[in-house]
Amino acid sequence: MINRCLFIFLTVYAALHVSIISAKELNIYSHRQPFLIEPFLKSFTESTGIETKVLYSTKGLAQRLRSEGKNSPADVVLTVDIGRLYIYRDLNLLAEINSDKLITNVPAHLRSDDNTWFALSKRSRVIVVAKDRVKPGEINRIEDLADPKWKGRVCSRPGSHVYNRALMASMIAHHGEEAAEAWGQKLVNNLARRPQGNDRAQVKAIYEGVCDVAIINNYYFGKLKFSEEAEQRNWVQSMRLVFPNQGSGDRGSHINISGGGVALHSKNKSEAILLLEFLTSPLAQKLYGEINFEYPVNEAVESTSELQSWGQFKEDKLPIVRIAELSRKAQMVIDRVGW
Ligand code: FE
Repeated sequence: MINRCLFIFLTVYAALHVSIISAKELNIYSHRQPFLIEPFLKSFTESTGIETKVLYSTKGLAQRLRSEGKNSPADVVLTVDIGRLYIYRDLNLLAEINSDKLITNVPAHLRSDDNTWFALSKRSRVIVVAKDRVKPGEINRIEDLADPKWKGRVCSRPGSHVYNRALMASMIAHHGEEAAEAWGQKLVNNLARRPQGNDRAQVKAIYEGVCDVAIINNYYFGKLKFSEEAEQRNWVQSMRLVFPNQGSGDRGSHINISGGGVALHSKNKSEAILLLEFLTSPLAQKLYGEINFEYPVNEAVESTSELQSWGQFKEDKLPIVRIAELSRKAQMVIDRVGW
């Protein structure tokens, strides 16, 4: 009897012990904000039992990862903007991932060809116009911002911000450097005021009558529309969103991505891959739209009905890596035209 009890005790102890050492914790370095990341991680832990710990920072994470080297506790890197992902790749801070799920869930133009990084969501750079001063159909393409009819009517944040630099890179990719520069010069000539403020500030400027047309990332429209501040909700009421370059035969609206990869020296690579797979799964892909008005990358997942209500959205399928490759060139053009 005693022996039997001892046997049961040891079996239970061994099982517990195994589950204790296999309950891993993932360390995440994130450029994305807590309100956005936490719901995903909660859901991930619920479905896998894997706990997570996040280091949030808007700057310096790549440098930190590099200086930590082999001793880095980081398992996963989450960031926004292809330019940033590319820096991690360029500094050789990301591991090559072997995952059929990721290859299936993320289309080829939204991941690296060496499987070091993968897009997790998409956002588009779109046009907003004053409903009462710009007629439907009056502006349809991003190229139209160069039209002299918009002289003194366009607002923009500085060109050197990553969002605009990426847009300029896409113009270079499609039209060549010279034509992109000519477009940029005409756009600058059409500005109602010196480039300033963030994307939200451009929406406010339209509301205040400073300008009639501006460029913003699509999710700001949602954030303002559902803002807790009544004033911000009013801004959106007076505005219409235009997804540029939607015509048949046109290339679609310029997009950028949020994305992630596995840290080169991660000690928990298979769990880290599990997290990326989870983030591209239908369950998580829906959340990007619900929490932050971003589009899913997984083509098997529909965007939210709110996003669909904003109008047809055809994306530019330029391999997103081109945006990063042309980023330096784009910045030089931006400097030359004084955007
Ligand atoms: Fe933003």
